[in-house]
Amino acid sequence: MPCLVRENLFIGNISDAAEILEKGSCEITHVLSVLSSASISFFTEWRSSVDIPVKEIRRVFAGDSEFVGGSKSAISPEKLVYNLEYAGKDLKMVRMAVPLKDTEDENLLDYLEVCLDFIEQGRKKGAVLVHCFAGVSRSAAIITAYLMRSEQLSQEAALESLRQSSEFVSPNDNFLEQLKMFEEMGFKVDHGNTKYKRFRLRILGDSYNRGHKMDSSKFGADPGLPQEIEYPKPDAVPDFNKNSNVAYRCKKCRRVVALQENIVDHVPGEGMTAFQWHKRRSGNSFDKPDEFGCSSIFVEPLKWMKAVEEGAIEGKLSCAHCDARLGYFNWSGIQCNCGSWITPAFQLHKCRIDLSTI
Ligand SMILES: [Zn+2]
Ligand SMILES: [Zn+2]
Repeated sequence: MPCLVRENLFIGNISDAAEILEKGSCEITHVLSVLSSASISFFTEWRSSVDIPVKEIRRVFAGDSEFVGGSKSAISPEKLVYNLEYAGKDLKMVRMAVPLKDTEDENLLDYLEVCLDFIEQGRKKGAVLVHCFAGVSRSAAIITAYLMRSEQLSQEAALESLRQSSEFVSPNDNFLEQLKMFEEMGFKVDHGNTKYKRFRLRILGDSYNRGHKMDSSKFGADPGLPQEIEYPKPDAVPDFNKNSNVAYRCKKCRRVVALQENIVDHVPGEGMTAFQWHKRRSGNSFDKPDEFGCSSIFVEPLKWMKAVEEGAIEGKLSCAHCDARLGYFNWSGIQCNCGSWITPAFQLHKCRIDLSTI
């Protein structure tokens, strides 16, 4: 039996969903299925074996313009984000299937907002069942995020509140960590946030470590090629605090090699136990010298980094225009001179680049 979480919102497992699709429900009008791709296929086969009709509304892939996260998300463009359909005996139910595994390396964040919007819409029109396989981890993570966003609750408070309805809920640690990030980003998935950028790099790094082919579509646009820069929408309010007009150029040939938005900040000195520090400002000419005077900046992988695209684990980063050596990359990490480890690392030496405005 599905458990009532809030008015018009239920959590359940795969047999709850099967029963509702087969027999109908006097309450539930919307079903959100969060299952692995294999279980989604299995569920589809089962459904046709018991003659439950289905009519597809649409399928959205990460590369589609309809998908808000787009190139800034960590999902590869060819991957399915969701499948929307009319379902149930009389095709009156709306069902959304989202492929998500219950694992320690699964990307929850990038699927979150489509799920939360579906729940919100569904509750306005009727009642929503959110289910995964067991009703313990994935569905619980999504409902927790929904309660966080709709009631402005911390991750802990939202989960605790969900436990009042369904005592066995227990999202896996990876999901809990991502929900914490969701909270810290203000209950939205902010693709420009440093935490999000680190998360995206971690997903890229995981995929590299599993030996997957390098997905250069997930690299940042080459800021040296003006046509590739995604300009903000005309109605977007410019954010002057973000130094969005700052560019880093190759010292030798002046080609733009990185923008402020490409930088993945690190906390200077994190993990610096092996180092003895003289807290003095370094003599570099950057506007914001930090206390530890890091001698490098770290960026997301960018499309001009051909050596990265070729799939090596580490190598030199050379200017795409004049071939001057600018830095180094290593998927297993590089230690900044401040002591912090950055993993994976795409490092540009400050002595090889200049800071300027665009
Ligand atoms: Zn540093
Ligand atoms: Zn150059």
